[in-house]
Amino acid sequence: MPSLSKKTLIVFDLDGTLAPTKSPLEPDMSRTLSALLAQKKVAVIGGGTYRQFRRQFISRLDCPRGLLKNLFIFPTTATAFYRYDKGWKNVYAHTLSKDEKQKVRKAVVDVFKKVGYVPPKKIYGKTLEDRGSQMSYSFLGQDVVAKLGKKGVRLKEEWTKKNTPLKLKIAGMLQKKLPELEVHAAGFTTIDITKQGIDKAYGVRQIEKYLRIPIRDMVFIGDALYPGGNDAAAKKTGVRTIPTSGPKETIRIIEKILKS
Ligand SMILES: [Mg+2]
Repeated sequence: MPSLSKKTLIVFDLDGTLAPTKSPLEPDMSRTLSALLAQKKVAVIGGGTYRQFRRQFISRLDCPRGLLKNLFIFPTTATAFYRYDKGWKNVYAHTLSKDEKQKVRKAVVDVFKKVGYVPPKKIYGKTLEDRGSQMSYSFLGQDVVAKLGKKGVRLKEEWTKKNTPLKLKIAGMLQKKLPELEVHAAGFTTIDITKQGIDKAYGVRQIEKYLRIPIRDMVFIGDALYPGGNDAAAKKTGVRTIPTSGPKETIRIIEKILKS
């Protein structure tokens, strides 16, 4: 991939791209990213909170401190931005208003009542989480993977197989009740509610604006670039994209970039 040598910024989705879903970054990925940070700037964008990024990504990245100036973190789909300057510093956070959050809470209760949804007996952590710029409803609880590890991932997959039509129905009904907000049936077992227009395209444009790097100098690597996937919106910006099937393939892509 010779044209990749000219790209100065590599943008990665987090879940399913750099790390398994909601699971920690693995040591081989940490080594590969560390090598990449010595040559390129790297931005990571994901739906999870900064807290989740710390747990899953930052704390697992074993890399010389001097290289962290090349790493840029965009949690909650780039509605927040953190950069490293003698520690991780928040640059901005665009949050929902109190009123908007209250409307979301009410809409969730109303819609569940209407469809007769009864949550499973066992829930791991909070279901409706206030992520500042985003409200996220997780059907099995936010911490199912943090608490159960691989078993949690399996539970999520099983739930997804059984309940995706129900999840989409609930998401559709929530959207009708919250016309001024945007409802995304993101991830496996989650519904995210954000301000309008918050997607990976917004993310790429925020990255361009705050890092002052033109989109033509970026590459976006994600596991859900297919139509309907939560990375697909990135394509609207014209950014060069490279699809990946998961962290293993992402490592091979990074190695190609390093050799280019
Ligand atoms: Mg992903």
